[in-house]
Amino acid sequence: MASRNEEVLREAFMTKRSQNKSPFTPTNWKDRWFVLTPHNLIYYDGDRNSGRKREKGRVDLSKVWAVESVEYSAFQKDLVFQLVYGSTADTESVTLYIAASSAHDHDDWLEHIRSLVGNNTNLAEVFHKGALLRNQWSCCRGPKDAVACTPVTWTRNNNATPGMLCPEVDRSGRPRRYCYDQPSPSPPLNQDNMLPKKIVVAIYDYNPTEIGDLPLRKNEEYEVLQDAEENWWRMRNRNGEEGYAPSNYVKEKASLGLQQYDWYLGDATRQRAEFILKREEKEGCFVVRNSTTTTGMYTLSVYSKQPTPQVKHYHIKREGDLYYLSQSIKCRTIPDLIFKHKYNPGGLCTRLRSPPTHGRQPPTTAGISHDKWEIDPNELNLLEELGSGQFGVVRHGKLKCMDVAVKMMKEGTMSEEAFIEEAKVMTQLQHTNLVQLYGVCSRHRPIYIVTEYLRYGSLLLYLRQKEKHLITCSEQLLDMCLQVCEGMAYLEKQRFIHRDLAARNCLVGSQGVIKVGDFGLARYVVDDEYAGSGGAKFPIKWAAPEVLNYMRFSSKSDVWAFGVLMWEVFTCGRMPYGKLRNAEVVDRVQSGQVLERPTYCPETVYELMKLCWTHDVDRRPSFADMRCQIVEIQEA
Ligand code: ADP
Ligand code: MG
Repeated sequence: MASRNEEVLREAFMTKRSQNKSPFTPTNWKDRWFVLTPHNLIYYDGDRNSGRKREKGRVDLSKVWAVESVEYSAFQKDLVFQLVYGSTADTESVTLYIAASSAHDHDDWLEHIRSLVGNNTNLAEVFHKGALLRNQWSCCRGPKDAVACTPVTWTRNNNATPGMLCPEVDRSGRPRRYCYDQPSPSPPLNQDNMLPKKIVVAIYDYNPTEIGDLPLRKNEEYEVLQDAEENWWRMRNRNGEEGYAPSNYVKEKASLGLQQYDWYLGDATRQRAEFILKREEKEGCFVVRNSTTTTGMYTLSVYSKQPTPQVKHYHIKREGDLYYLSQSIKCRTIPDLIFKHKYNPGGLCTRLRSPPTHGRQPPTTAGISHDKWEIDPNELNLLEELGSGQFGVVRHGKLKCMDVAVKMMKEGTMSEEAFIEEAKVMTQLQHTNLVQLYGVCSRHRPIYIVTEYLRYGSLLLYLRQKEKHLITCSEQLLDMCLQVCEGMAYLEKQRFIHRDLAARNCLVGSQGVIKVGDFGLARYVVDDEYAGSGGAKFPIKWAAPEVLNYMRFSSKSDVWAFGVLMWEVFTCGRMPYGKLRNAEVVDRVQSGQVLERPTYCPETVYELMKLCWTHDVDRRPSFADMRCQIVEIQEA
């Protein structure tokens, strides 16, 4: 493990290319656990199951002189990046090739490492964007010692010429931060401040709830005027009207990719695709989604009534620059391929016709507007009661035309001031599998918490009501777990601890969506019955040993609770440990006994639950690990 005094900045499983002894041995990629600290990138023997890790190597970041992407054709592989380090003389340097597991991870790791090496004195101006294969560079076809062919894509200063390095300190003597170059040819300039214009395209319609926010129309272009904040950007439309709009409703024109097509579902799972297509029941209805097993690859899902109603899934294969589903039709782009298969089934169960009418749903926005979390209760139209819980009654409501749920907090149940402060942060958390917090009404008592509304209510009740139908559908149940895991992996990445993850705190929406709710609220409960692990209302049955012993909460204690939640899902809502009293549960957990395997739960899934119940916190998997493992089972 990274030594005690080295702060861990980032960690993940990624694959690493073996450093070949001979240039002629085939390329070999191995799973490694990468840990980034302020001074080193360390990789460990990654055994996902046992959690056992042994250091296999490390790169001293002060010796790094290039951090760059690798072109696809070098290894026929997407998402590969390289760290070149050692002596700047090409012949003595070493290159570490790493394949990230998503485009997002790839960019994040690259950026994070760059931020740490940005002040190295030996940074390069040029690099090889390909790889050295059989003693020849795949990019420039030069020999091993050929001068690198491609200008680096980043520099340390905003004003620098692309590919050039600038002095390490600015005029005031402060170290400079790195930055990215603009791709050439130079993009149009924004007239106000002479920075390059950022043009985005709306991928969903957006109807603001606040005056002054800018409505968005799908497929129209907007100029971004201010993007300093993550979730709300100031934009200008073609008519010159300006206002804030949610950044997750637009995509940069230059990297729009498949987002512009209604048939593209992004990261939707196989289950979600089936759900959407089966509901439409239209011959040839289809979607394309990211492959869950191979990053950078895609899967086509098609509905056909012949011979019996079913959804078929096809991997879109790639050969060099060409995509294909069958050998007879190969195209340069996926939209071309889809177009061709609209006229010719070419081996598919049916020809492709149209995307679903209710396919891609617009995501929630992080809060209701830029910098706004206080909601005027007069703007809320309160409707029927949805239920009541620990904090009081929950009602359905409308905020302008948007459906919301309104939690009316019983007075004296929570430390309100602290919560209101935190709510500002919580509105900024945005993920498909998290119940969105829109804001609070905090000027009146009781205070209201206004969140996204999910029509099918609590997951616990849903499981209990649908037990007959669900109990044997282990694929569907596992998909529910995966969705919760995705939401939690996001919270883990944001370093936000839930503290009360359980089926009762998850909700079910349309299209089979599951969302995690009530994150972080537990911290503001003032009820003595709840507050300590000795309290009668404390969720003992979901608590990890380190929580029972020392009240030590972490994302890893959330993982323990996630194991219990998986058990709730696979028993369709049974109470963990049945009628055992809290003290007995604590004894059981401390002595290492775990919940039994639910009758219809596959052995592989039960193994995952048990991984969550690893007593040693360091060996317990993270949500990111759990996600990989669940996907593996789904695809098996
Ligand atoms: P609990 O203490 O059981 O977690 P909550 O106060 O969180 O209670 O919620 C009470 C009930 O209100 C839930 O069981 C659910 O049926 C309903 N509910 C809560 N939030 C929402 C929401 N965002 N959308 C729809 N129903 C909700
Ligand atoms: Mg709740």
